[in-house]
Amino acid sequence: MQTTENPAQAVDQTASWRERADSELEKIVRLFSSTQLPDLCAKSLIIAPEKPSSKWSFGNQLLMLLAGTEDARGYRQWMDAKRYVRKGSKAFYILGPVFVKKRVDSPDPNDGEDIEVLVGFRAIPVFRLEDTEGADLPTYKPRDPPPLLDVAERYGMKVNYLRLSAGVYGLTDYERQVITLATEDWTVFWHELAHAIHRSYEPKTGHGQEPEAETIAQLVAATLARLYGRPDDSFSWTYLATQAQSASPQQVGRMCLRVLDRAKRVLDLIYEAPAQP
Ligand SMILES: [Zn+2]
Repeated sequence: MQTTENPAQAVDQTASWRERADSELEKIVRLFSSTQLPDLCAKSLIIAPEKPSSKWSFGNQLLMLLAGTEDARGYRQWMDAKRYVRKGSKAFYILGPVFVKKRVDSPDPNDGEDIEVLVGFRAIPVFRLEDTEGADLPTYKPRDPPPLLDVAERYGMKVNYLRLSAGVYGLTDYERQVITLATEDWTVFWHELAHAIHRSYEPKTGHGQEPEAETIAQLVAATLARLYGRPDDSFSWTYLATQAQSASPQQVGRMCLRVLDRAKRVLDLIYEAPAQP
């Protein structure tokens, strides 16, 4: 797109972008209300540095969050990452399973089998990232950074790339103001960005994923995807059908209509940024 120094023209371009966005958003809602789109394959995940804790059990991950950190490791593990636990730091404990090998007898004395048997748990001391110092942890740099990163910045959100638990492409931590992405897929970033903007004026009421908030975020992402020439309709439809708990296009369409104005408002707030497709 050509840029212009003429402010009147610049405003015009914003207006036309908004019109295009509105028309794409409405096309999406019409499409989603009339057709059941086929399932699409999963998005490709990045090969990002992984935190040891991403392999922990849910209970241990909860203990880590209660300890107020997003990265905890054993003393040795921090040394492997060239970081050192500060003197006087207190460990907190996670639980690790203890297995012993047991021989399972067989009638044939040469044919026994060793199996691992869980005999209990032991407490493993781990330290918070915040209690360590040393080399910066490796970070993942996207090869193809998504447009509108500046909008995230405007909302005070940091964006980083990390492997997340299986099946999670992205998540937003509103308290820490961090968007974490496990894929370079632009629409995943736009979905999280939409959440952050939506949440900035309409605070969350319940726990976990709220179908309406998810629908707003995905409609915004699907609209931006079309504006940037990367339509994502199949994935979005499947996502919204999951939120609507129905594979009926009418149900999906109805849910879209319920949140249409709020999705438009999020798009409006995005347009305040100078970047345009
Ligand atoms: Zn979401």
